[in-house]
Amino acid sequence: MEQSTLALAERVSRISISGTMRVAAEAERLRRQGIDVIDLSAGEPDFPTPEHIKQAGLRAIQDDFTRYTPVTGIHELRTAICERHAADFGASYTPAECVVTAGGKQAVFNFVQALVNPGDEVVIPVPYWVSYRDIACFAGASCVFAPADEENGFAVTAALIERCLGPRTRMIVINSPSNPSGAVLDRDEFARILELASARGIWLLADECYGRLLYEGAPFSVSSLPGAKDNVLIAGSLSKTYAMTGWRLGYGLAPAPVIEAVLRVQSHSTSNASSIAQRAAIEALRGPQDAVAAMLAAYRRRRDFVIRRLRAIPGLRVSEPKGAFYAYPNIAAFLGASGLSSPLAFAELLLEKARVAVVPGEAFGTAHHVRISFAASPQVLERGLDRIHSFIQELPQ
Ligand code: PLP
Repeated sequence: MEQSTLALAERVSRISISGTMRVAAEAERLRRQGIDVIDLSAGEPDFPTPEHIKQAGLRAIQDDFTRYTPVTGIHELRTAICERHAADFGASYTPAECVVTAGGKQAVFNFVQALVNPGDEVVIPVPYWVSYRDIACFAGASCVFAPADEENGFAVTAALIERCLGPRTRMIVINSPSNPSGAVLDRDEFARILELASARGIWLLADECYGRLLYEGAPFSVSSLPGAKDNVLIAGSLSKTYAMTGWRLGYGLAPAPVIEAVLRVQSHSTSNASSIAQRAAIEALRGPQDAVAAMLAAYRRRRDFVIRRLRAIPGLRVSEPKGAFYAYPNIAAFLGASGLSSPLAFAELLLEKARVAVVPGEAFGTAHHVRISFAASPQVLERGLDRIHSFIQELPQ
């Protein structure tokens, strides 16, 4: 059937494949031609999955642990998730309040499908991880965007969120540490946002996918605050913490009736997460955690290097990320006079001329930024930053 005559369901026409894909697809095309592209666009660790976790996956296959599991995920894994969450963040969940999902993304998706009605409003701080917007749109909700203050490192505050609340607000989405800004929400602000949500019966969805990738202070979960659990939904993931993006293993933590609702959605779509990945996840969560600490130390060194190099570029402004593995520099000084009208145009030219792939800020809801991932080796980062610096110096001023 011709593309133009294809009648899509209305809910699909409300969402799109993110603009970031354009640069990624072009980078891939160049690479296939054998061109040396430096990819600083990836949203995933460059480290392999730690050996003991891989071995647990292999054992699962050898033991024929290759069948359907309960839709919720196996009990032992749900117990391990609750124990790990308690050890890391001090919150106490039971297996009945836990569902295993195919990645943190599915936890976010299923929470929204289970709890948000068409016409509801979902409050999303900007910059945001692009899927929140499309997932809310898919459910028929409207997004209310809360632009975080760049001067304050894009930190989200309760005052910012409060201004966006109204009679139709159904959910607030908080991602700390944030992709793309690396901002970490202050504990007191988080507590105040929880108070606002609880007082109004609004769901507070905390995306903790980068929860353990924190450069200062102890990891924090809003779910550890007294009385929080009634209103809080946690989306967690093993993808970034344990370098397990391809295994597709995440989880949701929420009041038991919410988990039951999520299971209705999940049981008619994907059913259980991979049985093999579930076994590997038990090892990840219960086994030695040294690899997590080692990867975090490497990301910290890379962050310091990338921020120092970016700040050495005249005209470029960048906040220091407090968590996750992205820098989100402001490139406004290089738009306009250079003939470049947008971050997308900047990223396309950077790829064409300097062979470096970054993600344009349009994907995250801002008009003057690009996202640079520092989940790449020091050598790759050094070459990438050299190229970015020369590219900017050569732009017409
Ligand atoms: N949440 C955020 C903020 C992310 O950046 C990502 C992945 O990039 C996810 C959730 C989902 O990760 P996964 O589905 O691999 O667990």
